[in-house]
Amino acid sequence: MRPLVAGNWKMNGLRSGEAELRAVIAGAVTGCDLMVCPPATLLVSFAAIAKGSSVVIGAQDCHGERDGAHTGDISAEMIADAGAGAVIVGHSERRADHQESDADVKAKASAAARAGLIAILCIGETKEERQAGATIARIGRQLDGSLPDRLDDARLVIAYEPVWAIGTGLTPTTKDVAEVHAFIRERLVALDPKAGASMRILYGGSVKPANAKELMAVMNVNGALVGGASLKAADFLGIAAAYS
Ligand code: PEP
Repeated sequence: MRPLVAGNWKMNGLRSGEAELRAVIAGAVTGCDLMVCPPATLLVSFAAIAKGSSVVIGAQDCHGERDGAHTGDISAEMIADAGAGAVIVGHSERRADHQESDADVKAKASAAARAGLIAILCIGETKEERQAGATIARIGRQLDGSLPDRLDDARLVIAYEPVWAIGTGLTPTTKDVAEVHAFIRERLVALDPKAGASMRILYGGSVKPANAKELMAVMNVNGALVGGASLKAADFLGIAAAYS
């Protein structure tokens, strides 16, 4: 399967950030797919700039409904209409800051499928859960509760992101990453042998150019979801270079 390196800009980026996107497009490597997920304010302009290139533009969240009285939210259909091709759902910052439940995340992932978007569905344990030896149980519950009913290997991507590794500079050992990714793969295959075997499972959490090669070489790691290091094109491309 073709790996994917996706950048989550979070609440960063003004229109002047277009230069970084242009640099990503210019430097895109051929060994993996690239995705940039800017804030919603930049979706339309970024999608226009990326049109015709190999870089997909994604949103960072969507509502489960198509439209309606949900002030401040945007639907998957609106994201597609803006020209974007993907959306991140269930990021741990959304789960923590907006109390998103697994059921909410399932609705969002299903909405993305409805609108024809790629969904990057994020799961991951907290530091307390890791220390208590409860990582696998937590990942299992998140998969059970948040996966959409139908697995679409072309449009559904899982991102394993240990909450304690996000933005901290800490990463799990490659052995721990391999264990969690193997568990996720096994669960996906049990649900749908064909789609589950070919869905991409990304690792996310303090991925940098310096550690990308080692992390991307782990079995069942099919790319990366990158936060901080995606804000500078040189760093983002340095991570993607793990696949060059
Ligand atoms: C993220 O927020 O998805 C993430 C992986 O962040 P960082 O790379 O900054 O740890």
